[in-house]
Amino acid sequence: MSSPQNNNLNNVKSSASLDKALDQTLRPQKWDEYIGQEMIKNNLRILIQAASERKESIEHLLFYGPAGLGKTTLALLIAKELGAQIKTTSGPAIERVGDLASILTNLSPGDILFIDEVHRLNKTIEEVLYPAMESRSLDIIIGKGPSARSIQLELPPFTLIAATTRVAMLSSPLRSRFSGGTFRLEFYTNEEVKKIITRSAGILGMEISSDSAEEIAKRSRYTPRIANHFLKRCRDFAQVHGGSGIDLNFAKKALDLMEIDELGLNNHDRRILNILIEKFKGGPVGLQTLAAATSEDEATIEDVYEPFLLQLGFIERTPRGRIATENAYKHLGQSQIQKNLLL
Ligand code: ADP
Repeated sequence: MSSPQNNNLNNVKSSASLDKALDQTLRPQKWDEYIGQEMIKNNLRILIQAASERKESIEHLLFYGPAGLGKTTLALLIAKELGAQIKTTSGPAIERVGDLASILTNLSPGDILFIDEVHRLNKTIEEVLYPAMESRSLDIIIGKGPSARSIQLELPPFTLIAATTRVAMLSSPLRSRFSGGTFRLEFYTNEEVKKIITRSAGILGMEISSDSAEEIAKRSRYTPRIANHFLKRCRDFAQVHGGSGIDLNFAKKALDLMEIDELGLNNHDRRILNILIEKFKGGPVGLQTLAAATSEDEATIEDVYEPFLLQLGFIERTPRGRIATENAYKHLGQSQIQKNLLL
């Protein structure tokens, strides 16, 4: 029998795979389609131009920030701009040193290697990565025991672009090897998310009113991937209810049906806050205890729910644990009153 914890994780995972197909369709193909993150784009443009003029590979880059903010998209855009081939993998997919060795030895000069969730690489693999990044050499040990010998292979010039939602989990030797720069992706403004929604609606061939794009943007956790996901759900709702496009009424009803409140909190967020407030008197409470009380995975709380709640100023992280803020109390109070009025 699956536990509630597994069910929650499965829900997160299955909606993640649905979102993957959507990501492909709506992914910006040109720099000017990539909205926001201006500082990062300006820095990258200079790196790319300078490296192209010198006919060299660009240096290794690290992108970090919550899921769905556009890290993968940036890596793909860089490859496109450089006319380079990009090979994509992820930390958990590289299980053994041999996996990494085979990826690296199959690279051609100028290729880009994109490693998503790089914080999940194990330490032995990280150590093989250091010399590969620094001096393009791959040191591997063949055989075991007294007959083991170490060989050194030279690698073609390549660029590693890594992405993570948890930069603090990266060891400092690894972090220091991203000589091209470490870039933190910021949450988007509602205005930027609205632009992304309008662009996506155009690609999907659907009509959307300006006020409904604004409403979806407001509830999208400042995150493009979530905005695109909501846009699709609103389209389904409008279609089933006989609409030819998305108007404010359809958008509001579809979002309410998904139990997304006016600030973008879903029922998982509200449950976490409620438990923090009611069971632990607002905290401080440690992550492990909070995870057990909410039947959520610790990593899911840290990666999926917490960044947004921190951004809204609804929780604070202190050395003694998580605390619910005054704003969280106020917001939940308001939601409760609204819910009672609707009943
Ligand atoms: P991450 O790798 O950070 O999880 P992705 O790069 O996969 O995020 O982005 C998720 C989706 O969100 C993309 O497919 C794209 O449709 C959309 N997206 C992300 N960033 C932007 C942006 N700056 N402008 C327009 N769309 C974006």
